[in-house]
Amino acid sequence: MNLYINDYTCGPRLAKIKVEGDKIFLGDNSCIVPVGNIKSPNKLSDGDILTIDRWGRGYRLYSNEEHNATIFMTGHCNSNCIMCPTSDKERQIDSGLPDAKLLSYIDMLPSDISHVVVTGGEPTLRVQLFLKVMKKLTDRFPHIETLLLTNGRSLSVASFFEKLKEYCPPYLCIAIPIHGDTPELHDKITRVSGSFNQTNRGIRNLLSAGIAVEIRVIVSKMNMYVLEGIAKRIIKYYPNVYTVNFIGMETRGNCAKNFSSIYIGHRQAFEAMRNAIDMLVMAGINTSIYNFPLCEVDAGYWGICRKSISPEKVRFPNECDKCAVKAECGGFFSTTLLMTKPQVSPIGPREAGICHC
Ligand code: SF4
Repeated sequence: MNLYINDYTCGPRLAKIKVEGDKIFLGDNSCIVPVGNIKSPNKLSDGDILTIDRWGRGYRLYSNEEHNATIFMTGHCNSNCIMCPTSDKERQIDSGLPDAKLLSYIDMLPSDISHVVVTGGEPTLRVQLFLKVMKKLTDRFPHIETLLLTNGRSLSVASFFEKLKEYCPPYLCIAIPIHGDTPELHDKITRVSGSFNQTNRGIRNLLSAGIAVEIRVIVSKMNMYVLEGIAKRIIKYYPNVYTVNFIGMETRGNCAKNFSSIYIGHRQAFEAMRNAIDMLVMAGINTSIYNFPLCEVDAGYWGICRKSISPEKVRFPNECDKCAVKAECGGFFSTTLLMTKPQVSPIGPREAGICHC
């Protein structure tokens, strides 16, 4: 829940909000509430899109300040990865919007958004709805980059893949994780037998159809010694991949539950992935680092570090206020900061290359 509206009587609704003085219009002139009735940790802005239940509990689906749209399809997943930031319980609840509401939400998005992410759970599980969403995105946003986050397994099914090809937006990139250099390790991490073969078949299908693929490698205690092996496989089998991203873990859900068997600190993770990154870069493959604070990465790699943690989740320890690169730093997930209490090393102006001479 992002907000709560006191004395709410307008019933469940999807609402694009309009702020006028001390009043907020929730979708139309029939539902106006005083600003003071809304209890929200984050300020609402004109153009935000909310879903509100009958009790006045609201969730922000779209923030007009960010201009990026997230389309959450379902909490369900057909894998149960050992380091997933979602918990077993969250995966069992279907927390996605009903079909009609989700499609209306896409209709309500402004036409000038800059980026769309389709995610879950496993977003392809609601097959018919997923295809309708792809078609709608193609019709409404033909020039916008769309990122689909999936485990890629369903893309190994020929009939489904053919439909996706028919409906997918022109600027679609599909991000798929590879967890190991062997089927045994990958399947041990996803906890689904056969998932490695399905995922790799899905990647091959996409690349042969000319659809952009991002391969994600979530670095953990379980795969830290095989990252070079993963890089070698990518170079050998998928040299035309769009990009490869090495990802730091978010310690919530399964990741928090299995913390001692999978978690490694950012510095240890960086040391483990350095050679794999070098190999990919030398092979001409665009490679980046997500979810890592800069002081845990050698300065020579800062150029490929991305500020990838969403604004509502990113946090910094107090010592970071002394750091010359805080504005460029990706910081920590709030849960990771709470659970691991990391020691940070603020960067001075000289190290940061900021000269005051
Ligand atoms: S000290 Fe803080 S702001 Fe600076 S690089 Fe480290 S985590 Fe980032």
